[in-house]
Parts: sequence; structure tokens; C-alpha cells
Amino acid sequence: MSAEYLDPLTALQVLEQEGKSDGLSAAELQDNKINGGTTYNDFLILPGYIGFSASAVTLDTRVTRRISLKTPLMSSPMDTVTETDMAINMALLGGIGILHNNCSPEVQAAMVRTVKKYENGFIPEPTVLAPTNTVQDVWDIKAKFGFCGIPITENGKLNSPLLGIVTARDIQFLEDGTASLSDVMSTDLVTAKAGVTLEQANQILRSSKKGKLPIVNDEGHLVSLLARSDLLKNQSFPLASKGKGKQLLVGAAVGTREEDMKRVALLVDAGLDVVVLDSSQGNSLYQINMIHHIKKTHPNLEVIAGNVVTWEQAARLIAAGADGLRVGMGSGSICITQEVMAVGRPQATAVYQVANFASRFGVPVIADGGIQNIGHITKALAMGASAVMMGGLLAGTHESPGEYFYHEGQRLKKYRGMGSLDAMDQNKADSGSQKRYYSEGDAVKVAQGVTGAVVDKGSIRKFVPYLVTGLQHSLQDIGIESLEGFHTGVREGIVRFEKRTPAAQLEGGINGLHSYEKRLFS
Ligand code: GDP
Ligand code: 5GP
Repeated sequence: MSAEYLDPLTALQVLEQEGKSDGLSAAELQDNKINGGTTYNDFLILPGYIGFSASAVTLDTRVTRRISLKTPLMSSPMDTVTETDMAINMALLGGIGILHNNCSPEVQAAMVRTVKKYENGFIPEPTVLAPTNTVQDVWDIKAKFGFCGIPITENGKLNSPLLGIVTARDIQFLEDGTASLSDVMSTDLVTAKAGVTLEQANQILRSSKKGKLPIVNDEGHLVSLLARSDLLKNQSFPLASKGKGKQLLVGAAVGTREEDMKRVALLVDAGLDVVVLDSSQGNSLYQINMIHHIKKTHPNLEVIAGNVVTWEQAARLIAAGADGLRVGMGSGSICITQEVMAVGRPQATAVYQVANFASRFGVPVIADGGIQNIGHITKALAMGASAVMMGGLLAGTHESPGEYFYHEGQRLKKYRGMGSLDAMDQNKADSGSQKRYYSEGDAVKVAQGVTGAVVDKGSIRKFVPYLVTGLQHSLQDIGIESLEGFHTGVREGIVRFEKRTPAAQLEGGINGLHSYEKRLFS
């Protein structure tokens, strides 16, 4: 070997002796006097050393001072994203759902109750019909939802006396849909009492050889349902987010008006774990008063305040007692705040600056809005976020509210901003959306969001595990084994970054192909 070259065996020592690292530290990347504000697409994370398998990467995190999760994922409080189905499944998969408040306090409290009483395997809100409904109604349900095992109660609702059940066999050979269900339903019912464990209920299902097991209370009123088909599916959720009494964790959004104090009381009564104070600009007298009120009246309720994007905003809310901060202003996919209000901040910078400040007080930060892919989640966490909040990415899944529709051959679901005129016009009387974005004194409603549609993404039972596995692989590439280690690595300048020019962004995307199919997971 030529004498002008160093001995290859000393390569690591040379690096160490010179004390230099490739790329930038997070502080250098976020020196906004030089770089301006950055978004997730403006930078990349440099790879590290892989000495472990991706499945060994742990993602445990805190979303408030006292609430820990096994995955750093939250669903947005939006009426096209989070109602009970989303909240239940987010919690089962290790994250947490925040129920929207574009509905009456009673409806929102009922949603909290449903999530809290969810038991793995039991269907908490089965579709129910009355004896006066017709066979056609069952056919319609079958066409829409894919099942036709339907309990029949006196008034056609849950918590009413159970009279019978209609199953596929009862209607199999019928050609006329006008028959009343009272004429076709089976009444030789095998039921189980509320309080039965999943194991016991499964045993009853096995020995009864029935397809469904209605669960009834002492008065014989229907309270939930168990399906044999679910018995056969894997029902284990090792990452599930659970609180005291092994119930799923759930959050809910509220506004900061006087009447929202009553809403909070109802939600707490229903078992709420964490409340999110939902303001687009959270640094206000109203929000501070609300935090004080909640801390005094409901000391066990965790409070996530926001939204904020600066140190000053964060400082006031931390001083008021916030247990977590939601960061983002104008970065949401349906959001036009930056365009209309001229306020906001590029999201990666907002997260970095607020997280850097809040971490000194032990207050976790949630990166809210603008998460379009797994890479964005990793980057938000790299900037110091303890979790990400997603709207658009989770909209269009089976668990998001709303019906699918077809447009130009694609299966879509509606997704709208809570500050869109569409959302503000709904439930005017007692909704939260109007109050977040519109003051009664205003003569004109100024929209801060739009209404759109997103493509069908299937069930979050597959989509969230895809996000989690992708995140584990991403951290493995960076050479980091845990989220906590990631934060420390970034703080100590061990995790390195690089700015991405517009040309570099083009290079990083798919290019030069005539056509392609982008399938993300299987
Ligand atoms: P069925 O026999 O036609 O009712 O359908 P299966 O029992 O084969 O499948 C029903 C699937 O839908 C199961 O995985 C249920 O957990 C699920 N499901 C969700 N909500 C409901 C509901 O309200 N009623 C019924 N019957 N199933 C539901
Ligand atoms: P996404 O994940 O779709 O990029 O953004 C979701 C986030 O956008 C929500 O969590 C919320 O903070 C924010 N958001 C929801 N609706 C509106 C709206 O109408 N206007 C604005 N400015 N932000 C919204």
C-alpha cells in the first residue's frame, strides 16, 4: 500500500481524533438566522450504524407528563377523523385517539364512555333493529357493512329488552323484503350476562355453536355482542394503551369558552383521560383560564394545551400548568391559516423550537399537522416531538367517520378542516368547530380550512402497524434503538442532519419512470 495513505485499520480513530462529524447538528440545522424556517421536506437525517434488528427498536413515549404510550401516534380531533371506532383502534394499536367536539357535549361524552367500556372482542355498539323493521333493512345493512347478524330489541336500540336475533340463515331463501323481522327472527337465544370475560364468552360461543352471542344486563337489555368470526381472528394487542382498570385510554377536544367547562365535567364523568384544548392560536387568556379551571376542578385530568409554535406561546401555557403542548399552525393538509392570517411557522422549525424549550420543564410536545408519510413522523420525532398527531393520514380509513363514495373510479372518503365553512356550519348550536375558528361578533365567517376527499386506505389495523414497522426501520437506519435514545442522540449532536436543496428533493422522489404503481405495504 502506498505510504501516502493512512492505515485503513485506523479509520475510526482518525475520525475520533479529528473530532469532526459529517453533516449538521439539529441546532445548526435549525439556526433559522441562516436557514430560515424549515419544513419536514427541507432536510434529511444522516444514517448511523446498525447493530440491532428493526423489531428491537422501542417507541415508548410520553404524550403528557403522566400519560405514556407504546407508539408515538395520535389521531386528530376532527369530525372526519376521530370518533369511537378510530379512538378504540388507535388505543388498541398503541396510540391514542382524540375525539372531536363538533357535536353536543352529551354526544361527545357518550363517545368517551363507549371507548372506556370497550372490551377486546366485544362489539360495543352493534347495529340493532326493531321487530317492526323489515328483511329489506337487513339486506341494506348487509350491502353497506357486510354483516347481517343483527340483534332485535324492543325499540331497535342498544340498552333495550332483547327479543331475538336475525342471522344469515333466517333470511337466506327469502325473496320478498317486506316481511317484518318479528316473523323471521330466531328467538331461541343463547346469551351471556354483562361482566362475562372474553374467555368465558368465547367458551359459550364454542359450545352453543351459534354465530353471535348477545350480552345482556340483569334486566335482559342488550349491552353488546360477540361474533364467532372474531373468535377466529387474532385478538391480541400487545401495544394497547391502557389506564387504570385496564380500560383503553382516550382523549377529547374542547374549546375554551365558559360553557366548555360544563363539557369538560361531562367528559370527566364519562372517564376521560386527557383533554386537548383546541385553539388554532393557544396563547390566550381564555386558554390560560381554562387550564387553571381544569387543574383546580379535575386534578387527575391531563391537559394538552395549544396550538403553539414559539417559545413565548409555550412559556405561558407551561406556566399555566399544561401537561403537554400541541405544536403546529398552518401546517395541516386542509389548512389555509398561513395564507389567510399570515401567521404560523414552518412545522419542523416550530416543533424543534417549542420542544427544545418545553423539554427543560419536562413537558412533552406533540407535532400536529403536515404528517404525510413515515419519514415525516421520524423527522418530527427528530425535532424533539414525543408524538405526532395525524388528520389526513388517518382519514379515509375504515375507522374514520363517514361513508365511502366513488369518484372517477376511486373509492374516497370526505376529509375536511374543522375551520372549513362546511364544518363550521354543522351543529351550529353546540359544536366546537365554529367556536375554534369563528367569533360570534364577526359579521363574516372567514374559513381557515378546506373540504376535500382522500383515498381509501383500508383499516388502521393494517395501516398503523405499517407506520410503526416503518418507523422502527427508520430508527434502525439512523442507528438508534429507542425514542428516548433518539431524543438524547439529537440533543447531543450524535444524530446528524443535512439540508435538502430543491434538486435534492426531486432526486429523493420517484423520477424518470414512464409510469409506476406506488404500493406502500402488504
Ligand atoms: P354476520 O354473520 O353476517 O353478522 O357476519 P360475521 O359475524 O361473519 O362478521 C361480522 C364482522 O363484523 C365481525 O368481525 C364483527 O366484529 C364485525 N362487526 C362490527 N360491527 C358489527 C355489528 O354491529 N354487528 C355485527 N353482526 N358485526 C359487526
Ligand atoms: P393533517 O394531519 O391533515 O396535515 O393536519 C391535521 C391538523 O390540522 C389537525 O390536527 C389540526 O391541528 C389542524 N386543522 C384541522 N382543521 C383545520 C382547519 O380548518 N384549519 C386549520 N388552520 N387547521 C386545521
